[in-house]
Amino acid sequence: MEQTVASHNLKDNVTTIEKSLFTNNDYFSITTLYSKSQGYVSGNKNLFANMDYTPLTKFILKETLKGTPLIKLGSGDLKVMIIAGVHGNELPPQNAALMLINKLQNLHLNGTVYIIPFAAPEATMYNIRNYNGQDINRSSMIKGSLGNLIIDKIKDLGITYVADFHSTALNANPGKEGVFCTIKPSPKSFDIASFISEDTNSSIINYNNAGTMFKGAIEDECNLIGIPAVTCEVISSIGRVSLGSTKRSLNQMISFLKYCNIL
Ligand SMILES: [Zn+2]
Repeated sequence: MEQTVASHNLKDNVTTIEKSLFTNNDYFSITTLYSKSQGYVSGNKNLFANMDYTPLTKFILKETLKGTPLIKLGSGDLKVMIIAGVHGNELPPQNAALMLINKLQNLHLNGTVYIIPFAAPEATMYNIRNYNGQDINRSSMIKGSLGNLIIDKIKDLGITYVADFHSTALNANPGKEGVFCTIKPSPKSFDIASFISEDTNSSIINYNNAGTMFKGAIEDECNLIGIPAVTCEVISSIGRVSLGSTKRSLNQMISFLKYCNIL
């Protein structure tokens, strides 16, 4: 366990948080991207035990009962997206995404940040990799798949850059801290990966052409349609939050936002 939260019994002030969040409608909004993926994310004990359980976190967790949440922070034409939980049992990025939302809520952003903290709440709840028997990150070229709906949303919103955050066990593939990218057809994918890898001391894992090594990955599908994207990996045991892994994933997210000039 990375961090033991002394108390999870914060006062139930979700209503207050909802009111304060929506006072400035332009700055924060939360919608449901897909409802069939709903799940009780708090039921994932390994994730829940490591959370910084703020009222905002509690509010977002409640939203996962409706499906895949999409959070929008900031405003402006520069639009970027951060995704976590594409593999439900890769916990550090999902925890980091919650921390990031809490952090960004109080900052001035030079643009709009869309965050999907739990791509498939149901898979997160069960602490399993796949959603509905399907690997989201190998099926996003299939119409109607959850991955494909995420790609459609990215297109509809006019997102400029996308980063998808994962974790990997030491004995798995890639088994090291790194940033996946491809030079063709979106060379900026390589630029983003170079920036994050230098900034966070992780390796670049570059493939020349999107969609050749991995088919149906969110990153590859974005790069193929000309939206520069990367996949960031931190080391952690699968289904658990290894020591320091949330912080490292959060650092990769912040680095991505720095590259995009959002921060
Ligand atoms: Zn993964």
